[in-house]
Amino acid sequence: MAGSRHEEAAAPRVGVLALQGDFREHLAVLTALGAVAVPVRRPDELAGVSGLVIPGGESTVMDKLSRTFGMAEPLRAAVDAGLPVYGTCAGLIMLADRVVDGSAGQRTIGGLDVAVRRNAFGGQNESFETDLVVPVVGDGPVHAVFIRAPVVAEVGPLATAVGVLDDGRVVAVEQGNLLGTSFHPEVTGELRFHVRFLEKARAWSSR
Ligand code: GLN
Repeated sequence: MAGSRHEEAAAPRVGVLALQGDFREHLAVLTALGAVAVPVRRPDELAGVSGLVIPGGESTVMDKLSRTFGMAEPLRAAVDAGLPVYGTCAGLIMLADRVVDGSAGQRTIGGLDVAVRRNAFGGQNESFETDLVVPVVGDGPVHAVFIRAPVVAEVGPLATAVGVLDDGRVVAVEQGNLLGTSFHPEVTGELRFHVRFLEKARAWSSR
C-alpha cells in the first residue's frame, strides 16, 4: 500500500541484536530518532527489519549466543543480501572479516573487509575518551568513548576508513551498507552515526 510505504519511509523498522551487550541504549537512540526499533533475537525478528545495529558487549559471547540461537547464518545471509548494519565496538568485531587476536574458535558474521584487533587499547587506557572528526557524518567533532575497544588493524580494498585517531589508528569504517565504529556513540548523545544508519535503512526499505 502506498500509505504504509510512506510510513515506512518516515519511520523505518530497524532492529538491534539483543543477544548480549548494550542493546537497550541503541534501542533508545533509534526510538528517539523516530525509528520503530525492536530487539532482535530470532531469525523471524531479523526478517522483519530494514536495518540492524549490533551493539557493544563481548564479541566472544555474542558469537557463541548467535550460534546457539541459530542466528549466525541468518545474520550472514542478511549482510550478504545488503541489509544495512551498524556495529559498535563488539558489533564492529562481529562485522569484521578477520579478527587478529580472537579467542580460540571465535567466529564473526563478517562483511567488512577489515581485520580488527580486540582490546587494542590495553593496560591503563582500557577505556578513554577523545574527539575525532568523521567527515562522512559531518564536520563537527565526534566525542568518542572507547571501552575495551578494538582497532581496525587492516583496511582491505573493499572497505573505507572513515574515522582515524591522531596517531593514525582507524576506529571507524564503512563499506556500502555496513558501518562500524570502535567507539560507542549511543552513550554520549552523538546521534549522527545512527542518523546515517537510518538513512541507509530508509533507502533499503524503499528499494
Ligand atoms: N572487548 C570486547 C570484545 O572483544 C568489546 C568491548 C565493547 O564492546 N565495549 O568483544
